[in-house]
Amino acid sequence: MGIAHLLSVLACSQMEFQQTIRKPVECRGVGLHSGQPVRLILRPAPPGAGIHFRLLHRGGTTVAAHPDSLADSHYATTLGENGCRVQTVEHLLSATHALGIDNLEVELDANELPALDGSAKPFVNLLYAAGRRVQTAPRRSVHVNEPIRVGDDGRWVEIVPAQDLWVSYTLDLDHPVVGTQSASFAVTERVFVEEVASARTYGFLSDLERLRENGLAKGGSLENAVVLGSNGILNGHLRFQDEFVRHKILDLIGDLAILGRPVIGHVVARNAGHALNHQLVMELHRRALAERLPQNGRARPLRRSVRSLEVPCRSEAEAVQDLPGLAAL
Ligand SMILES: [Zn+2]
Repeated sequence: MGIAHLLSVLACSQMEFQQTIRKPVECRGVGLHSGQPVRLILRPAPPGAGIHFRLLHRGGTTVAAHPDSLADSHYATTLGENGCRVQTVEHLLSATHALGIDNLEVELDANELPALDGSAKPFVNLLYAAGRRVQTAPRRSVHVNEPIRVGDDGRWVEIVPAQDLWVSYTLDLDHPVVGTQSASFAVTERVFVEEVASARTYGFLSDLERLRENGLAKGGSLENAVVLGSNGILNGHLRFQDEFVRHKILDLIGDLAILGRPVIGHVVARNAGHALNHQLVMELHRRALAERLPQNGRARPLRRSVRSLEVPCRSEAEAVQDLPGLAAL
């Protein structure tokens, strides 16, 4: 099958239009890893602009939510462009993707987004407060026509053809509160808001000291993450019995949003994480670029190959044992 058949990038047969927000809104918080206080302002952006982060403390330099900007996969999704980096973008991008916000300017006065309560729900509330405006440009979705898979037997993520965006996820974590959790959702706005958005990030108390020695989780607290001790949860009740796997789905949706266009397909994942999510996004991006080529044309060269984002594939439990970390960041 030729590359042209692998993906179809097209205006939806039922025409949909891009959206932005109606008015600026803002919030303040602390970066989960940096511990830095940050003020975030969401502003409307014109059709075709996509989602950009504008770093006020770096002279207004912008970083695009785009596959070419993917810079780091460790414990959070970090984007980099024009010599600047912005960290932990995935919870906001998960909310924008689910609510159909295509164009947005995100002003920040620090390098990391606020953790807020560790979920995407505060960002959903902020976007609802801003309202949505339908724009004149059509929205171009990416329809997956053939399976794409990255990873190995223990950790993988795959996308297969489907009529809508679905995400099915299985998480194996050797902890008495977690174990093996599976969840599957059709990612409509209502399902996202009710079933996914409020699932919080999680981490292990035993890893916190090592994380902080490595400059991570400086802003992590009992207020913005589910903290696991050796036998139980240290800070109250779970929001869902399977909150852990729901947060993995939240992260995956946020990473998919970096493609810059809605993805139509069924994503199936097991013990994946940001690194594998990013590999899938890069592969979707590579094939979408190839699809746009004129015959005998040449693709715009990618700044980063898919292979360069590969990581050794291990189970989530193994990764937790020998790497300090808030596992689901
Ligand atoms: Zn997360």
